[in-house]
Amino acid sequence: LKEALKLNSDEIKKLKEELASKIKESNIGAYVEQLTNTDITDSCNGVPIAIKDNINVKNWEITCSSNILKGYKSPYNATVINKLEEAGLCAFGRTNMDEFAMGSSTESSCYGKTLNPIDNTKVPGGSSGGSAAAVAGGIAIAALGTDTGGSIRQPAAYCGVVGMKPTYGRVSRYGITAYSSSLDQCGPITQNVEDAAILYDIISGNDPMDSTSANVDYPAVTPNLNADRKLTIAVIDSFVEQASPAIQEGYKKAIKAFEDAGHTIVHKNMLDTDKILSSYYIVATAEASANLSRFDGVRYGNRKGEGGLKDMYTQTKSQGFGEEVQKRIMLGSFVLSSGYYDAYYIKAQKVRHLIKDEYETIFKDADLILSPVAPTTAPEFGSFKTSLEMYLSDIYTISVNLAGLPAISLPVSKDENGMPVGLQLIGKAYDEQTVFDGALALE
Ligand code: GLN
Repeated sequence: LKEALKLNSDEIKKLKEELASKIKESNIGAYVEQLTNTDITDSCNGVPIAIKDNINVKNWEITCSSNILKGYKSPYNATVINKLEEAGLCAFGRTNMDEFAMGSSTESSCYGKTLNPIDNTKVPGGSSGGSAAAVAGGIAIAALGTDTGGSIRQPAAYCGVVGMKPTYGRVSRYGITAYSSSLDQCGPITQNVEDAAILYDIISGNDPMDSTSANVDYPAVTPNLNADRKLTIAVIDSFVEQASPAIQEGYKKAIKAFEDAGHTIVHKNMLDTDKILSSYYIVATAEASANLSRFDGVRYGNRKGEGGLKDMYTQTKSQGFGEEVQKRIMLGSFVLSSGYYDAYYIKAQKVRHLIKDEYETIFKDADLILSPVAPTTAPEFGSFKTSLEMYLSDIYTISVNLAGLPAISLPVSKDENGMPVGLQLIGKAYDEQTVFDGALALE
């Protein structure tokens, strides 16, 4: 990305044509639509960035990889797209995802699966699996994804690229289809840490169109990148014990690399992962059930059912939403329903506060936390036999969203089959600079 930003307009045009032909030849299913020549020349004037299918781009179809939205064209740009354009970049290609960003493998897309470019028998991760696979497969310079509970960091880890989730409120959510509004953040997926910093600087900033946008300073991180800062890194031993041997080995190597470079390592504890998992899947599904109620056949996309209002609602949702999405709407409606609200939803919010407190305690003695991104490297297709098995693979990423913190995932080693091992560095709220500096030191 850094190099592409130096090109003149003729060179960019050439780059886009080369990229478009590579995309057409590629068979990993990273993009949901083949690019046409018109797309190349007309709709994109700048350095091409691949865009996840839940971010609005004016006049483009946006489906969140769901049948319910097939054919729906966006009337406006998300703020992040306007920011790309203002900085001389542009939206180029729609990337595949889990339906409505609910999933960890991109297997729940209505377009079918995306293959991990490193080993086609493995999942690319999710939900931003298309974005990560496109960058890893050399068919995107960089991409935007969204991260509600790990959807940028985990696919980046499975595909061996860099993925960064900013502090909640740093990047405008205006024009990004809401999954769980108090957790969602948009962020970069790139080939290296510096590119992630560049793209983060471009898309972040206060936005009056998003009431949760942070009204704080937005110092650019890229000009101040410093891999030589001496940092204190916290490690959570009980977390790491639950990961596969390859992840544990990568973790040890990363600790040693930090120590050898003169950083300080401190050992810390965290809440049980089962508490974290329960809290996340209650908060996320509760918000999702409210957010997805707008897809009712009246306002967006596909309408089904001929037998009156109720039939329209029922048919539109039953035929339009896939199984995982329907399951989550039901779970979310249940935990919000009267009689269960206090027992589940309020309790989950209390646990969420405890998680935030735990992080604050750790950050009294540390600049960053080093953590696995997922318990294993990329699994084979069909490995998650039940939804619960898939949810369990999110244990390392979701607490970061519950606490609203920034984190970056980057590849540090490989397992015995050559699959990338990714680790994440979690930072204090609004301290993206340290997150990027720490990642540069590890890269
Ligand atoms: N896998 C998690 C979920 O399914 C996270 C998804 C995401 O970050 N969008 O909710």
